[in-house]
Amino acid sequence: MTYSEHPKIIILGIDGLDYLLVKKWQLKNIMQKTYCKMDLSDYKIIVTPPIWGSMLTGKIDYEIMKTWEKTAKIVGFKRGIEQNRLAKLGIKLTPFLTSRVGKGLLKILENMSKNPFEATANYINVKKEKNIFQFFEKPWNNGVPGYGRVDSNPLKRQLHLQAIGGEEKPFVNYIIKDYKNDKTQLLSALNKQEHDLIFWYTSITDSLGHIYISRPLTLMQYYLEINEIVGKVKDKYPSSIIYIISDHGMERVGLGRWGMHSNYAFFSSSTGEIISKPYELYDLVLKHKNI
Ligand SMILES: [Zn+2]
Repeated sequence: MTYSEHPKIIILGIDGLDYLLVKKWQLKNIMQKTYCKMDLSDYKIIVTPPIWGSMLTGKIDYEIMKTWEKTAKIVGFKRGIEQNRLAKLGIKLTPFLTSRVGKGLLKILENMSKNPFEATANYINVKKEKNIFQFFEKPWNNGVPGYGRVDSNPLKRQLHLQAIGGEEKPFVNYIIKDYKNDKTQLLSALNKQEHDLIFWYTSITDSLGHIYISRPLTLMQYYLEINEIVGKVKDKYPSSIIYIISDHGMERVGLGRWGMHSNYAFFSSSTGEIISKPYELYDLVLKHKNI
């Protein structure tokens, strides 16, 4: 088997990349030939791992969704009014949760319950689900939520909490370090020129979207960074098929400072193709596997 000079398909998975912000800031590289808003109404709750998992398998795993629904009842990842109510509650609770007593209590709760992020981080491999990587000769990925990537761990959650309490630097540094590591991995995979499918994932716009949504100019610099890296990939591999996809956007809830997941996602293609739901990525990618 000989491999084509360039990767056949490059998927850039940008967690939390927001359709409205890409449009507002006119990020041309990210917008590509065609871009669109994807509908998430088929997903009962909008949380990261099940949505990414559905892109890789072509279907929503309702058993995995159930794991999240239980947590959503406590943590509140629901859409619309419920999300608003929770945000208001969050504002009231923040001083307590960031106090010493509050932090201690959260630590106890964290140790008591199996966190769904960790529990569902590798569900596709654990359940031996058929996925897009199996259809390619030499696929590459740097870990996708649902497929081996633990997007949230106790340290990250702890730092996130500190950030909500006003101490942002350690959280931001952690996220940037993580992003740099992911970027290095992408560039090295691309340079090898031996992979037929590349699926790159970064969570920078989700993680920093949560804390910077009410400060658009700060958030914008990270969107510009993504726009720049997309430009580099496109310049280097102009004949590759490039898809850019997110699992949801971020929106400011009420008058709160913090961002939560919005009920739409982003998609763009270098080919002019569009999809309207994240799980349709599976069929789209498979359509090109023999070209
Ligand atoms: Zn996400």
